[in-house]
Amino acid sequence: MAVHRGSPRQEPDAERGRLAVNPFHAAADPAVGMRAVPPTDRLPDEPMPPDTTYNLVRDELMLDGNARLNLATFVTTWMEPQADALMAECSAKNMIDKDEYPRTAELERRCVAMLADLWHAPDPQRAVGCSTTGSSEACMLAGMALKRRWSRRNADRLRTGARPNLVMGVNVQVCWEKFCNFWEVEPRLVPMEGERFHLDPQAAAQLCDENTIGVVSVLGSTFDGSYEPVEQVCAALDTLQERTGLDIPVHVDGASGAMVAPFLDPGLVWDFRLDRVASINTSGHKYGLVYPGVGWALWRDAESLPQELVFRVNYLGGDMPTYALNFSRPGAQVAAQYYTFLRLGREGFRAVQQAARDVAGTLAAGIASLGDFRLLTRGDELPAFAFTTAPGVTAFNVFDVSRRLREHGWLVPAYTFPPDRQDLSVLRVVCRNGFTADLADLLLDSLDRLLPELRSQPGPLVRDEQKATSFHH
Ligand SMILES: *Cc1c(COP(=O)(O)O)cnc(C)c1O
Repeated sequence: MAVHRGSPRQEPDAERGRLAVNPFHAAADPAVGMRAVPPTDRLPDEPMPPDTTYNLVRDELMLDGNARLNLATFVTTWMEPQADALMAECSAKNMIDKDEYPRTAELERRCVAMLADLWHAPDPQRAVGCSTTGSSEACMLAGMALKRRWSRRNADRLRTGARPNLVMGVNVQVCWEKFCNFWEVEPRLVPMEGERFHLDPQAAAQLCDENTIGVVSVLGSTFDGSYEPVEQVCAALDTLQERTGLDIPVHVDGASGAMVAPFLDPGLVWDFRLDRVASINTSGHKYGLVYPGVGWALWRDAESLPQELVFRVNYLGGDMPTYALNFSRPGAQVAAQYYTFLRLGREGFRAVQQAARDVAGTLAAGIASLGDFRLLTRGDELPAFAFTTAPGVTAFNVFDVSRRLREHGWLVPAYTFPPDRQDLSVLRVVCRNGFTADLADLLLDSLDRLLPELRSQPGPLVRDEQKATSFHH
């Protein structure tokens, strides 16, 4: 055990490089708390009792934001106690050990089959798919499949130095920039224009050429919660094919929307009903209502996923196909996803997502009625919306609003739009299950109470946009 530090504390814990233990937390022997000063940045020399350790870690984590008041994230922040229990019981299971945990593997298979059915795969039995750590990994896999299919058709071009490209809106999530960087694909980004904040079908078709591996269409955009017009994107590519013979597949990044639209917008055609849609991903941990991290990648049929990307691993006595990037991965999230599917069914999902969308719509209308803001979206696609200051508001900007809301405990990100709308900065509110109408009223109330002070400012106080807020697209 490290020796008691003798001198009175002068510096904050982090700078001292030592943790401070509350003597009460060492239940059996309070004096342990006085002697234990575990270092922060290297392994302590001695062990500590489990209760002391637990309290030490838990106390430090109290300083994290309150997940339920975090309106910045699409990721699930609340599950039922039964789901918590199930996850705790499964936390020792490794998803990759399919031979040892065949029932967990079976639950994964069933989830893939349910999603294939939900997304109208022409023959759900022939659809292939897998769980991942999230949409980012799923997007890597889908992008790899697109690239490999293009390379197969274009071996000659590749030899003469052709560079594959991927066409998408500038509003895509950062995982697509990563994909292009890691897999050496040229990103071709359609900029925003005027009041259009996502992919334009004609502009997408215009950017395609013989080196285009695919077009990514997002349902819906993280910037403003809007759905991209997937059907129109496909139609524009149909026209392109008639004119030029180029047959460009589409991947739908449904990280959020693929678990919203099937329940709330059944008439919207965005999924495998469109022949051109080769693959779809979603984040089980967003509107799939599971804690992080689980995602799903599905291909419409086996031909859409080149067989050479499927590894048959002879591992611990079993022959198993795998196409995820990760090897070991927790099984708990997959069990929890299966739980949410069984627990809610279609009708339950509809009710949960509708409640979130109702809250979004009401809150958006409430913010609009304050008079100081202009809505860019109304929360009627994803249950999320973006708003900016109304024309003529010069006393404060969106970054000031974000910072002041934080004083009331609300985490509402502010950020600047990408090209060609860098002149536009917005706030975004994501409504998830657990963010109730009552909490939304409290947020509106906080905003209402802050506004008189904001209006009397001589001008915007926060100018360094980078520091104003943390926003993860
Ligand atoms: C969240 C998100 C991602 C990344 O998903 P993770 O599950 O966080 O890895 C990708 N695309 C879109 C549209 C998203 O909203």
